Amino acid sequence: MKKYFQKYPLVWKKDDLFIKIYSSIPNIATGILITTNNSVFVVDPGDGILRDLSKDVGLNTILNISDIFITHGHHDHIGGVWSLLTYLSVMKKNNDLNIYFPKGCIEIESIYKAFNNVYKKELTYKINLKEITNEKSFKRKNILIKPFEVDHRELSSDQKTYIKIPSLGFKFIYNKKSICYGGDTAYCNSLVKNCKNSDLAIIEAGAKSNDQLEIHMSVEQATEIGKTAKEFFLVHIPE
Ligand SMILES: [Zn+2]
Repeated sequence: MKKYFQKYPLVWKKDDLFIKIYSSIPNIATGILITTNNSVFVVDPGDGILRDLSKDVGLNTILNISDIFITHGHHDHIGGVWSLLTYLSVMKKNNDLNIYFPKGCIEIESIYKAFNNVYKKELTYKINLKEITNEKSFKRKNILIKPFEVDHRELSSDQKTYIKIPSLGFKFIYNKKSICYGGDTAYCNSLVKNCKNSDLAIIEAGAKSNDQLEIHMSVEQATEIGKTAKEFFLVHIPE
């Protein structure tokens, strides 16, 4: 397998559609910001997302985060949720926050439950948990969001077999421009289909070796898909 390095942050912009990937390192952290002139979204808030946002965009933009999108419950994609939610309350966010996550993602359900237990009396904003149960598109702040199921797995308790976990990719379409982010996934048709002709595809290449191709993709597989989009970033590459 080809050795490949990626340097963060990664930035891409078309008109006012802007994306910044602060980090996407397996077992450490992912953290992605998407903005337009009137929207602030966060995708996969892994550990360090609050530090990165605070340093980069500052308090006002952070308070305007309206929607968080979670591809799956692995810790390197959600490790920053607790601190981000807490900070928003401490800084007195006063508008709703939606959290979209795949149905059956117990990590988000558990974090929310614990968070609510601890902070519900002092919370300054409303959190709407939005479980995604199908691939129906929906619109937020003039951005069309198309969730699609991908094929990501983890080692089962027998430590031998890999089991499928609830996992999604998201396609964001705004002003005829599209960004497709597959989250973590093995090579799968839904990703191939959604990345094709996207303006930007963000594709994981997390497989360390060929025996990991059930859970992640190789650089070769990810590049093959990436080339069908107008531009692409390879992310989640083992360091
Ligand atoms: Zn994962």
